[in-house]
Amino acid sequence: MPDTVASLTFVRKRRLEWREVPRPELRGPSEALVRPITAARCDADCLFLLHDYSRALQLGAAVHVIDPEVRELGDRPFAGPFAYGHECVAEVLAIGEAVTRVRVGDRVVVPWAISCGRCPRCRLGLTSRCERHPSTLAAYGFGGRIGGWGGMVSDMLRVPYADAMLVPLPPGLSPIDMASASDNLPDAWRSVAPHLRARPGAPVLVVGGAARSIGLCAAGIAVALGAERVDYVDTDPTRLGIAATLGAHPVALERGARWWRRRAPVLAGGHPITVDASSREDGLEYAIRAAAPGGVCTAVGFYLRRGTPLPLWHMYLKDVRLHVGVPHPVAALLDVLDLVASGRFDPRRIAPRVADWRDAPEALLDGDATKVIVARPAETRPS
Ligand SMILES: [Zn+2]
Ligand SMILES: [Zn+2]
Repeated sequence: MPDTVASLTFVRKRRLEWREVPRPELRGPSEALVRPITAARCDADCLFLLHDYSRALQLGAAVHVIDPEVRELGDRPFAGPFAYGHECVAEVLAIGEAVTRVRVGDRVVVPWAISCGRCPRCRLGLTSRCERHPSTLAAYGFGGRIGGWGGMVSDMLRVPYADAMLVPLPPGLSPIDMASASDNLPDAWRSVAPHLRARPGAPVLVVGGAARSIGLCAAGIAVALGAERVDYVDTDPTRLGIAATLGAHPVALERGARWWRRRAPVLAGGHPITVDASSREDGLEYAIRAAAPGGVCTAVGFYLRRGTPLPLWHMYLKDVRLHVGVPHPVAALLDVLDLVASGRFDPRRIAPRVADWRDAPEALLDGDATKVIVARPAETRPS
């Protein structure tokens, strides 16, 4: 057996290449080795894949425009080279002797973040902020202080807490459809599903944009879960068209029209549930102001500026709650898998580009695609 495996490496903006890395090994009884068979591009990856993101962050931090805490991610956050990818479905190749919840040959979702499943935060469901890895985020597919865990577009991946992290794919669910279950799908789910459970049928508003697939999935999931009305606001005609096919009501805004300042209500009285997937301060403000009294707004994007302004007086008067934070997929995954298995929400409806695994270095740089998924056949039989 060769002692290296192929791993897709992010080198710099618009450059991904296959490199050989040391073959991962089981280092303890709770671990597993898996082989990814489908992998997807997280919306946030577009920042460094398509833009000179690391340099912008370093420069922004140096001139105090960007929140200095970005340095928590390393002196040169998102600077290549690093092993790429943090969304995948994999086949289990080997397990340690203490692993009981997955078997060799299982198809599993591998969450983007490392979590032990036992610490107080993991037990609260905050699995992406596991206390065993307190310094910063610990995750696949990033460099700097987050990294060291390998990337998911690779021939082998080590999972340090297999029972806590891996979630078997139910029979009948396609590894291609669920390639984003590591991150973006549960991120979309958490932005609408718990709130619709608390308020069945409530109208939902999604401001789409940079979190391109998350916004669309949030709209589609809200429709699937019975929201009486889902308004999807965006400037991008392709995404607006997809939103319509998902059963949402597309609201087109002209690029540069400063629509967010107009604060025109899409729904008189506001939406009890709103989502900002634009990853823009103005989009966030729009989503907050669109919320109905007592409403909840979930922000799934990044807001990096030092001191992002918020309409706090408006929020006080309207009693609007704002939730900002990383997604914790493990807590949501069973519900997400159930929803897709029920047929009520089909992730393919967001029109991902599905490419051959070997074409990953080129396909993942497709700036037009809502989502890119790469796929290859499994080598083991499902158990
Ligand atoms: Zn991600
Ligand atoms: Zn933990």
